Amino acid sequence: MIDLRNKTAVVTGSTSGIGFAVASSLAHAGADVMLNGLGDADEIETLRKNLSETTGQRIYYSAADMRKPAEIKSMVKQAKSLMGSINILVNNAGIQFVGPVESFPTDKWDDIIAINLTSSFHTIQNCLGDMKESGWGRIINIASAHSLVASPFKCAYVAAKHGLVGLTKTIALECAEYGVTANAISPGYVLTDLVKKQIPETAIARGLSEDAVKTEILLGAQPTKKFVTGESIAETVLFLSSPAAENITGTNLSIDGGWTAQ
Ligand code: NAD
Repeated sequence: MIDLRNKTAVVTGSTSGIGFAVASSLAHAGADVMLNGLGDADEIETLRKNLSETTGQRIYYSAADMRKPAEIKSMVKQAKSLMGSINILVNNAGIQFVGPVESFPTDKWDDIIAINLTSSFHTIQNCLGDMKESGWGRIINIASAHSLVASPFKCAYVAAKHGLVGLTKTIALECAEYGVTANAISPGYVLTDLVKKQIPETAIARGLSEDAVKTEILLGAQPTKKFVTGESIAETVLFLSSPAAENITGTNLSIDGGWTAQ
């Protein structure tokens, strides 16, 4: 079992879906964790309290909006002051919008690039100095199969995820000699809110029924015909945080049921 006692982590976008699965696994492995994300304040407080009680770890929460560099800076400062350090940074916050490029709303493009790509630049910029100084750090960016291949009607998402992998590789090279690794994980479809929300949008964009979107488009992309689970991504984050992964850096690990092997 991977032991992360005495380690601390910040997971962006961890109030639901993959991010919460990752935060939960890190806490169960012994790390103190700062959660982040949007949602109902009472529900998030219940989530935070339950995770703290079930793991015995210190679990904090920041409401920082990943579109806002000043709020990201404050979140990192707050995490350092509450936990003493940030050893593991998981950049997971993300949103999606599906529509043809000609009518793709500019505000959706801006938000997707800000949350799915630029926020990782800001978190990394604010965390890396301390990680390098301490001689240990793990930066794990949740990208997507869409970091490797495109699908129509997802121009902003595909652009952001391709960019995130480029950022990952660059950071890996910049911190290679400091005990800090930077990797991306690229899942296929996981049945979270993000995917459930795009089913009706995709149905309209492609002129299909919602059922057909699920079986032909989502599972159609994955030779295993199975959705990926948040838990499998969380276990991969644990592995990348373990001593066995100290020489894995600058990679983009696919967990996509064979999607990008085709
Ligand atoms: P989700 O909608 O369940 O979770 C997204 C999280 O990001 C939530 O906690 C939400 O509150 C947070 N978030 C959204 N906007 C934010 C903002 N402005 N500031 C701070 N937090 C914000 O979706 P998910 O599927 O768990 O997605 C998590 C990550 O995994 C995303 O980066 C997504 O692109 C990636 N991913 C998802 C899938 C999938 O099929 N679900 C596949 C590949 C990659």
